[in-house]
Amino acid sequence: MDTTPDSTPVTGILRTTWVRDELAHVLEHAGTDEPSGTWTGLACPDHGLSVGSDVCVATLLAMSAGRAVADLIWEAPAYIADEHARAFDAAMEAFQQGRSAAAERHWQDLQAIWSHAWATNYAVLGLIQQAGITEFAEVKPQRWVVASFEHHCGSHGVQLPHVHNVVVTALTSGSSSEENVRADSAGGSYG
Ligand SMILES: [Zn+2]
Repeated sequence: MDTTPDSTPVTGILRTTWVRDELAHVLEHAGTDEPSGTWTGLACPDHGLSVGSDVCVATLLAMSAGRAVADLIWEAPAYIADEHARAFDAAMEAFQQGRSAAAERHWQDLQAIWSHAWATNYAVLGLIQQAGITEFAEVKPQRWVVASFEHHCGSHGVQLPHVHNVVVTALTSGSSSEENVRADSAGGSYG
């Protein structure tokens, strides 16, 4: 399912890393000081996970147990980061001064900025799955199982608003199910 308008710019920086902390970084923040995750990969529906639905942490842990997991960190481009910082500061200032209507308006601005950031991150993921990553699978184009987590700030090394795209690389599949190229045929239920 491609819900991204063609006009969505493919921008920002994507860094590919391997998860060595058993997802501690994303799980530490998800549902506490940051929102819970969202399933985003093209192969998610193959595993009963609808794209755009909330990530169940237990399901993600069961799927990734004992497998190589990559974290493709998308960092927002400067213009999104600047708008984000402006809206955040304005919201905090209004909140502290007790101007609740103004604070609410700025929070809505912040949400609009984030939905633009999500669309851009999704467009970037689409492009990279199209291109394929050889460390994940030989087949091209690829479809991945991805759980994405937005992080608003950078008290943990990344200074810009960013999205962690957690890819269970063993579940990478080819573009069409009849090719039967899925690296892992387990499928089924993880819940
Ligand atoms: Zn982070």
